[in-house]
Amino acid sequence: MASQILENGLKLENLLINGYEQVVKVTDKDSGLNAIIAIHSTAMGPALGGIRIQPYASFSDALEDVLRLSKGMTYKSSLVEVGLGGGKAVIIADPKKQKTPEMLLALGRAIEQLGGAYICAEDVGCTTEDVRIVRRATKFVVGLPHTKSSGDPGPFTAWGTFRGIQATLKHLFGSDCVEGRTIAIQGLGNVGMNLADFLFWAGANLILSDIDTVKLEKAAVKYGARTVPSDQILFVECDVLAPCALGGILNDHTIPKLRCKAIAGAANNQLLTPAHGDMLHNRNIPYAPDFVINVGGILNVAAELEEEGYRPSVSRSKVHRIYDTLTAIYEIAGRNKESTHKAAIALADYRIKYSLGKRVFPPTFHHTTD
Ligand code: NAD
Repeated sequence: MASQILENGLKLENLLINGYEQVVKVTDKDSGLNAIIAIHSTAMGPALGGIRIQPYASFSDALEDVLRLSKGMTYKSSLVEVGLGGGKAVIIADPKKQKTPEMLLALGRAIEQLGGAYICAEDVGCTTEDVRIVRRATKFVVGLPHTKSSGDPGPFTAWGTFRGIQATLKHLFGSDCVEGRTIAIQGLGNVGMNLADFLFWAGANLILSDIDTVKLEKAAVKYGARTVPSDQILFVECDVLAPCALGGILNDHTIPKLRCKAIAGAANNQLLTPAHGDMLHNRNIPYAPDFVINVGGILNVAAELEEEGYRPSVSRSKVHRIYDTLTAIYEIAGRNKESTHKAAIALADYRIKYSLGKRVFPPTFHHTTD
């Protein structure tokens, strides 16, 4: 522990973690807040990342998660021109039973203490309403509803995934034409359903799956799609498998049974471990790294930090270029005979080293206090 700042019952303790700019343990006696804010890197700009609220089994579990997630945000942001670094906050609490406004306010006070090095947003267990409470204590917030706000990121993430699928088809077949290709989608949520729509209108044959059978049947009728049970979608024969539901689905058990020609979907943390990227490489199944193909959401929310405020057409142009980033990654991986996961990390490291896409103007916060 390097330092402590005390403000009423609020306590910030710096934890020295190799490879991270700042990791702060935040506790607050009055509200019972037990949280960690991790700033992995601000080399490209302030560290942006959501607040995750989860009943972690231990402090070390929470620490491991916040370190992994904040580093992931650095890589994600560095591959696109958003001028942001990587950060994340976790609150150790059950969001359904233990989360209180007082806790959120205390976290907001801690974020304010960091002076803008970390900008927060919503994440698992944390709603827009919660972020609105955090906002009462700090301006370093994005994703709140106001006239210059970015709104729902789902369609942008889905469009980025569509462009990633096009780049993957080009890599596979020499043409990015979607017409007549078979795409299997796991998960018809905010991203998956929008993706199904884009693919349908581009002429794809769809195979769909969701644990919500009512939603699944509706989509199947709308798009004339084949449906399969959720335990089979990963193993159907198709051109591209688009995982849009869960993390960790590419692992020792699933990879040997895959019958897709490539994988390109929006779900976060699809590889159980980086070694599973090598396994896919060895099976000759091109894989669009999740932190490259699903950046549409972060690109969109970052756009509200521009001085002019959020402009959807600017976000759209940036999301469109996910195609080019992914094409470059397929090329680098092919040249180096390595997994696309490794190639994407190497590209991100290169961009950070040479400050490519570094923020020039400070971010502008357009929201009011409530
Ligand atoms: P969502 O919660 O809206 O949808 C997830 C869908 O998956 C739901 O319809 C759910 O019923 C379904 N599902 C859950 N388990 C399933 C299973 N075993 N088989 C089939 N379907 C299953 O989530 P979302 O916002 O659409 O995000 C989807 C994925 O993309 C998540 O991994 C998320 O982290 C990632 N992602 C989302 C965004 C975004 O902008 N929303 C941005 C980046 C990454």
